[in-house]
Amino acid sequence: MIVAEAKPFKEIKENLAGYKKVCILGCEACVSICHAGGQKQVQELASQLKLAAKLEGSDIEIKEGGIQRQCEWEFIEPVNDFVGNHDAIISLACGIGVQFMAERYPQIKVLPGLNTTFMGAPTEPGVFWERCVGCGNCVLAETGGICPVSRCAKNLLNGPCGGSQKGECEVGNETPCVWQDIYDQLDKQGNLKLIEPITPAKDWSTSTNNQPRRMNLNHLKKVETVAAD
Ligand code: SF4
Ligand code: SF4
Repeated sequence: MIVAEAKPFKEIKENLAGYKKVCILGCEACVSICHAGGQKQVQELASQLKLAAKLEGSDIEIKEGGIQRQCEWEFIEPVNDFVGNHDAIISLACGIGVQFMAERYPQIKVLPGLNTTFMGAPTEPGVFWERCVGCGNCVLAETGGICPVSRCAKNLLNGPCGGSQKGECEVGNETPCVWQDIYDQLDKQGNLKLIEPITPAKDWSTSTNNQPRRMNLNHLKKVETVAAD
């Protein structure tokens, strides 16, 4: 899932300066699980903005709503009437959802209400850890299903670095040394031989440091059509 957190209220308010008809749209997917973009957060932000406007003696009209997923056109279409003629939308979605809203409603100012942080998962109630950076060439088969690319502070593919203490990474803050975890996991699986070969430098051309990535599945449709014929 994509993990995000609320932008500071001050920043949201500054971005909103001058807009009088505003709708706040939550997203019921990933960001609602991390308590950033669900209906409750929409209501809280709306209340904060109304209260701030009242204290300042300014006028603002705020409508609250939500979309099941802001990152797919078919889920956005049903809110066309709701979005209507607002002059600003605060999107409580991840950065993908905000961009889809801005693309769909170019005549309306679309503002992000969240800071998108990482791809991760809850490891215990209320605690989310990063698990993947979308490197485009997954190495989990060699590392016992534990990702060193996203979870090693130095992104080492041949670890550990020598800085870990009692299983904790040298960056501290109760961060586990992922290479200790990988070692323990492979040991449990009786597969320690996997850690022995030196992994060559990673080919980052599949990662985000290159051109914007895209995936085109249309060739699959052509194959299916030919097979059906
Ligand atoms: S190796 Fe790459 S694709 Fe696999 S989990 Fe790690 S970052 Fe994600
Ligand atoms: S202590 Fe472990 S997790 Fe931390 S940087 Fe070194 S190898 Fe990576």
